Amino acid sequence: SLVGSEMCIRDSIKGYLEAILDGTIPQELYHKYLHIVISETERLNKLTQGMLTLNSLDSKGYLTRTNFDINRTIKDTAATFEGTCSAKGITFDLTFADSIQMVYADLGKIQQVLYNLIDNAIKFSHEDSIIYIQTSIRYEKIFISIKDTGIGIPKDSQKKIFERFYKTDLSRGKDKKGTGLGLAIVKEIIQAHGENIDVVSTEGVGSEFIFSLPLATNL
Ligand code: ADP
Repeated sequence: SLVGSEMCIRDSIKGYLEAILDGTIPQELYHKYLHIVISETERLNKLTQGMLTLNSLDSKGYLTRTNFDINRTIKDTAATFEGTCSAKGITFDLTFADSIQMVYADLGKIQQVLYNLIDNAIKFSHEDSIIYIQTSIRYEKIFISIKDTGIGIPKDSQKKIFERFYKTDLSRGKDKKGTGLGLAIVKEIIQAHGENIDVVSTEGVGSEFIFSLPLATNL
């Protein structure tokens, strides 16, 4: 399905290329505009990927649950960001309730949740800062928190960030490639597990995302 923002990006790509062809954009600016076209193409790819993921989540009964160690999953996912982090001077501070923590969930989908939340935490953090990831156990559940000290989310946006395509005004300048689908995907996955995700954030101070998962049972 073609959604509004996909069409918008297609039109802008087409517009730039036509302007190059018909001479509206002078030759000395080709380089600049072709870079824009490339980055718009990347954004279109991300958007299409995100829509495909959301569509596949819409069809129910798709979770493949197993027992796995969430601590290992967190460490592995954080490790995939090593390059981006060192470029931005960002470090992780991981605090686990125990050395191994088995949960009963869909591993691939929880990897995607952690990836999207950590990706946002990095994108919206300032240089040389720390991202805190913590787990704690309460009422037979594990709570996983990902906390940054970045730009934060204005109060009136905090409910809307889980909607498809929503982006806060604060973040627009910082992240031109975002599609506004990451948190919609996160929320769908957590809800499919019968669990919840919450955000606590203060503009200019930082954001914390907390979600729950069921602990593994020894049956
Ligand atoms: P995007 O691809 O734009 O990051 P998301 O659905 O993941 O899409 O996030 C939606 C919007 O929520 C972001 O564009 C940003 O405005 C806001 N947001 C998400 N995570 C954070 C964060 N950790 N700090 C500040 N703003 C955030």
